[in-house]
Amino acid sequence: MPAIKFRGVDFIEFDTLLNDDERLVRDTARKFIEDNLVPIIEQCNRAGRFPRELVKPMADLGFFGASLDGYGCAGMSNVEYGLVTQELERGDSGVRSFVSVQSALVMYPIYTFGTDEQKNTWLPAMQKGEKLGCFGLTEPDFGSNPGGMRTRARKVGKEYVLNGEKMWITSGSIADVAVIWAKVENEGDKIRGFLVETDRAGFKADDIHGKWSLRASVTSGLSLQDVRIPESNLLPGTGGLKSPLMCLNQARYGIAWGAVGAAMACYDCALQYSLLRKQFRNQPIASHQLVQEKLTWMINEITKAQLLVLQVGRLKDAGKVQHQHISMAKRNNVWMALECARLSRDLLGANGVADDYPIMRHLMNLESVKTYEGTHDIHTLIIGASVTGIDAF
Ligand SMILES: Cc1cc2nc3c(=O)[nH]c(=O)nc-3n(C[C@H](O)[C@H](O)[C@H](O)COP(=O)(O)OP(=O)(O)OC[C@H]3O[C@@H](n4cnc5c(N)ncnc54)[C@H](O)[C@@H]3O)c2cc1C
Repeated sequence: MPAIKFRGVDFIEFDTLLNDDERLVRDTARKFIEDNLVPIIEQCNRAGRFPRELVKPMADLGFFGASLDGYGCAGMSNVEYGLVTQELERGDSGVRSFVSVQSALVMYPIYTFGTDEQKNTWLPAMQKGEKLGCFGLTEPDFGSNPGGMRTRARKVGKEYVLNGEKMWITSGSIADVAVIWAKVENEGDKIRGFLVETDRAGFKADDIHGKWSLRASVTSGLSLQDVRIPESNLLPGTGGLKSPLMCLNQARYGIAWGAVGAAMACYDCALQYSLLRKQFRNQPIASHQLVQEKLTWMINEITKAQLLVLQVGRLKDAGKVQHQHISMAKRNNVWMALECARLSRDLLGANGVADDYPIMRHLMNLESVKTYEGTHDIHTLIIGASVTGIDAF
């Protein structure tokens, strides 16, 4: 079977809905992924290795904090940024996760809630990929309900002292700075965000091994034991659970685009394979109705997902997006991508389980993507609350 090369997926002239700048950004990201990530990703996945050598080249293309203005950031529109995450995840969900965390979960809160000094210290260096960040919200006992967090901060003189455990933290052990969410004891347990340099005494990050998903991304547990930070490390604009949820909204938006990328990778591979692979009467398997039904399901759902996330992006660029819009895009598109990965895996038969093809990797990755940044069912409840006005959590 000859090597299968990605050709893009566009059934209803989706490209005509994009302007020249958007297409240019998308094509640049696509070429970067094709030339730099695709040749190494299966090996990284096998080895459980994050391709750190791509950090600088990705920074040079403006991928970090891409939709922020100033501090060396690219100032892309939300649609342009979304197209970048689509292409990144077409390569690998783990690499897209790294960019999402750096951009949406670390640079965004510094940009939105931080002081000028914090912004000047961190944003230019993070944009250049010289400093890396992680976002510590989830704990061993609290995931979907982060409001239950046990991590505490106590103000002592001109310092805060932090204690707690964070779990499942992307980029935890490679980060220079962690955005840590904690309840402040002297403020009636109000949730606030803190910048914690990872070389501070009492801070420890240990990687989680044995993941069968996002193997090309670092995932760690964080432990904070009497970590003392100056009061100037508090992100002063944070206050309440709303603050981390605002960050998650940014990341979920990128995920909704990214999932389209993963689905396109699986579908295009399965389509090309089914046209090449012959079984009965020396005919390609694509000639059978049952195979066509699977391909039709996929292109149908991918096309709907592209339109959904583009509209959410347009609303975001117009300053009109609501969190429930982003929930719908994340929920639908990740579910759709996972179904596409499963159908594509099926269409490749035994070859579908081998890493000569990208499908099983995407399938395994998407299981995490379905769970993180609000599980599929949590987004069901967010949309349900939006349409009924009743919280069912
Ligand atoms: C690879 C990876 C990377 C991650 N990176 C980060 C990171 O960088 N930073 C970070 O803070 N977190 C990160 N996470 C954590 C992630 O956000 C959580 O796993 C997620 O929020 C779900 O929490 P949980 O795993 O504790 O599951 P739980 O909350 O225990 O949920 C388990 C199941 O119960 C369901 N459930 C829970 N509550 C309800 C309800 N009210 N009604 C119906 N069903 C419900 C869920 O939908 C799910 O099916 C990462 C996770 C993974 C897998």
